[in-house]
Amino acid sequence: MTEYSAGPLVHACTQCGACEPVCPALLSPMRLHAAIRRLDWADPDLVGLSACTECGDCTPVCPSAIGLVADFRYAKAEIAWQRELLARADAARRRFLARRQRLAEAAEARNRALAAKSENPTASADAAVDLLQAALARARTKHLAKKAEVDGGA
Ligand code: SF4
Ligand code: SF4
Repeated sequence: MTEYSAGPLVHACTQCGACEPVCPALLSPMRLHAAIRRLDWADPDLVGLSACTECGDCTPVCPSAIGLVADFRYAKAEIAWQRELLARADAARRRFLARRQRLAEAAEARNRALAAKSENPTASADAAVDLLQAALARARTKHLAKKAEVDGGA
């Protein structure tokens, strides 16, 4: 990621508003800049940032010589990165939940097989194993289907 310092500005925004009428996307570069300085990527003032074409019209009119376009490029990259991290975390969470469900189903199948065997002691061990393997195969099929669904939605 691009390094960005939110330290003191050489020239702070005076909120003169000179950057606003020149924006062809009808954005408020002043408000975008203020939100970026706060490093709050959920700031509602940043909602319109994606409409910024990076034309650069706002930068030369700023009497404080603030690098507005550089700010906007940085913020776009940062927001995209934050979204990517959220998407990865969500995919990991869904994989975890799917695995937990698969393990629970396998445990339940094992318990059912053991219960069936204890109810019918004359049944052969092979029959119990067959029952267990069939249950595990069903759990595996479910898992693969779930994984394909998760991978497809990631
Ligand atoms: S760089 Fe973005 S915010 Fe600045 S004038 Fe162009 S579109 Fe508007
Ligand atoms: S032109 Fe510069 S100083 Fe004036 S409001 Fe815009 S960013 Fe702030």
